[in-house]
Amino acid sequence: MRVPDYISPVVAYRAWQLDANGLRSLSGQPWHPGRSLAAACRASVRGAAHDVHDAPQMTCTCGIYAAKSHADLRTAGYAGFGIHGEVYLWGTVVEHELGWRAQYACPKNFFLPLEMLPVSMSMLEPRLKALAAFGCDIHLIGRKGNMPLWVKGSGYELTALDLLVQRGKSWYAVRQEERRIKRGDRVAILGRGIALVEHVNDKHAHVLLWNRNVLRISRKEIVWDEQNMRWELNLLARLKANGKT
Ligand SMILES: [Zn+2]
Repeated sequence: MRVPDYISPVVAYRAWQLDANGLRSLSGQPWHPGRSLAAACRASVRGAAHDVHDAPQMTCTCGIYAAKSHADLRTAGYAGFGIHGEVYLWGTVVEHELGWRAQYACPKNFFLPLEMLPVSMSMLEPRLKALAAFGCDIHLIGRKGNMPLWVKGSGYELTALDLLVQRGKSWYAVRQEERRIKRGDRVAILGRGIALVEHVNDKHAHVLLWNRNVLRISRKEIVWDEQNMRWELNLLARLKANGKT
């Protein structure tokens, strides 16, 4: 069997992971803007198989993988794992039933399923920036279908961007509401155990300790601990601040 060498690129479909480090293959291989990805053979890294420059080979499993269509990507089981989009494949390209293994690839466009994106704009912004650096059109897959998010030559599309901003805002509002200390909440007090909030006003919270003692503490001293997912009061810090230790 002959390995065909494509002069004009094949357009295929694939999935990536998009995180704080940028765009990567699901296997972890980073993709960089402004340059094509060249396949390397892992088998040859281990000293077997064939020359590293000759990926992909007919008899090997190396090469940059892409499906023939979005439907094939789904069939192969990769559609639910990240963002996806079209890619150009060229150089040596080995054809399979559902897709290709190629020597070179670069992204053509990106499709971002809404549920794959972080809701917080502070987390989303660096990801979008990393993606826009590729200079390919970016589409958002929302509940009402696809819409352009970033278009080559004109930048962000307001409708899609606004959708993301609003989504971030309502998420933030819900979080803020959850974060407002209220009667019945538990507060971990270092050295005293867990207390139950009995009453809250603008300035103070009255908390009930296990020994039925009630403490009045300033709301400023109660902090939400993200790691432990609970309210906490550091009494030792307070005593130190008052010079009582
Ligand atoms: Zn190989």
